[in-house]
Amino acid sequence: MRTTILYSPGDVRFEARDEPKILAPTDAILRLSATCVCGSDLWPYRGLQPVTQPQAMGHEYCGIVEEVGSAVKTVKPGQFVVGSFCISDNTCPICKAGYPSSCIHREFMTGAQAPMARVPLADGTLVATRELPSDDLIPGLLATSDVFGTGWFAADAANVRPGMTVAVVGDGAVGLCAVLSAKQMGAERIIAMSRHETRQRIARDFGATDIVTERGADGIARIKELTKGLGADAVLECVGTQESMQQALGATRPGGYVSFVGVPHGVQLDGQGLFFAQVHLHGGPAPVRRYLPELIDLVLERKVDPGKVFDLLLPLDQVAEAYRAMDERRAIKTLLRP
Ligand SMILES: [Zn+2]
Repeated sequence: MRTTILYSPGDVRFEARDEPKILAPTDAILRLSATCVCGSDLWPYRGLQPVTQPQAMGHEYCGIVEEVGSAVKTVKPGQFVVGSFCISDNTCPICKAGYPSSCIHREFMTGAQAPMARVPLADGTLVATRELPSDDLIPGLLATSDVFGTGWFAADAANVRPGMTVAVVGDGAVGLCAVLSAKQMGAERIIAMSRHETRQRIARDFGATDIVTERGADGIARIKELTKGLGADAVLECVGTQESMQQALGATRPGGYVSFVGVPHGVQLDGQGLFFAQVHLHGGPAPVRRYLPELIDLVLERKVDPGKVFDLLLPLDQVAEAYRAMDERRAIKTLLRP
């Protein structure tokens, strides 16, 4: 088969490799129905994260189980499954506490921008559907694997409750899914921060009631203006830069909640500023596995369609173009079909 390898910044190749094999009795091999490029794949692609050796790329995936190791009990060949980008056993004390993304046996999924992939700890990582889903649901199901699960965590970690005013920093796929999640959790007012017309349109479609185009101090001032000078009850930070984190902390009312789900790059927090902001702060890699059963059902019942974040569909062998399109912001997120 051919698979996606990042050699160095900007150099993505689709190359021949052996098909994955069962290496441990807890592994499963999947034939992928769809995969995609993640915003976080752009960090090494842009050279903002070092690439020391060629890397197999891809951690968002769904597909049909091809083969399982001898110890796998909860999924079987022929089933359709979705898995998290974090590999977890789902049995350790950290998993039981609701944080499979920090499982004591955690690994990060790789090699999913390929026709087939090996998933370690299959029982703890994969969730099977009762029947094979119809093809038009595949993008939405794929989104649960990372961006929808992460957006859901952004809203959950910021304690979004019915009637709250929520602001979302970031209009990438995760930010848009955070809007969708806040809406599902009953937020009354959802302020999306975005300067891009197509992203603003999806944000509104997902439930945003207000759009703020300003950034930095102006963005904070605008959110305060929209919230009687107080700040939002919850701010969901879905980028991971110093600017976006400052934006989130500055736009939250005292006693409110800030969640942060974008992988931080160069973010520094000032203790004194944090002290007087007096906000709840919770974030990290999203415990997607915890949410998967619920999110899969929301998609299968057609209550939500997070698959709308995929605005470019390409065959998998054009994966290099998928990276380029996202890097140049011509696409929000690219869906790849083997
Ligand atoms: Zn665990």
